[in-house]
Amino acid sequence: ELTDITTLLLSRIRDVADYPEPGVMFKDITPLLADPVAFTALTDAFAEVAERTGATKVVGLEARGFILGAPVAVRAGLGFVPVRKAGKLPGATLAQAYDLEYGSAEIEVHAEDLTADDRVLIVDDVLATGGTAEASIQLIHRAGAEVAGVAVLMELGFLEGRPRLEAALRGAPLEAL
Ligand code: AMP
Repeated sequence: ELTDITTLLLSRIRDVADYPEPGVMFKDITPLLADPVAFTALTDAFAEVAERTGATKVVGLEARGFILGAPVAVRAGLGFVPVRKAGKLPGATLAQAYDLEYGSAEIEVHAEDLTADDRVLIVDDVLATGGTAEASIQLIHRAGAEVAGVAVLMELGFLEGRPRLEAALRGAPLEAL
């Protein structure tokens, strides 16, 4: 049973078949971003998760997690920390590699932006295989911080990202709006 907000958000997500490659159904959030009512509703819903989980920082995952996470941080009165693809951050970083279907990828965070006092809410648009989120959780733990939770707009359940994240989450919630 869908709430009004879920119906609104779903109506603003465009399914694009075979993008960026054959067999992938791409979830395009640009119609949602362009709609101020939907974008505000999403930001408020994420901010509620941040407050409920006692987050002190919002970490956004490059690149759509930046667009979604930054207004959440402002709305909740928290700092924002970007997790970027390797080679984009100028300062001292922690790096975490992870496997993709073909090859591997690496993400980084500025080490000084997270401390042992932080509880981090990770924000992204889509949880697919969970590889990116899992590597991000590992980065946050290596920085000495705690993970308050992972919040995504959509979870592609058939890719089984949720069970993959279970151990890394250490009991923190994974919320798919
Ligand atoms: P994964 O690491 O497999 O969970 O992939 C998650 C990342 O890839 C997220 O940052 C998403 O933005 C992006 N992504 C994966 N699958 C899709 C999809 N079907 N539509 C839109 N974005 C996706």
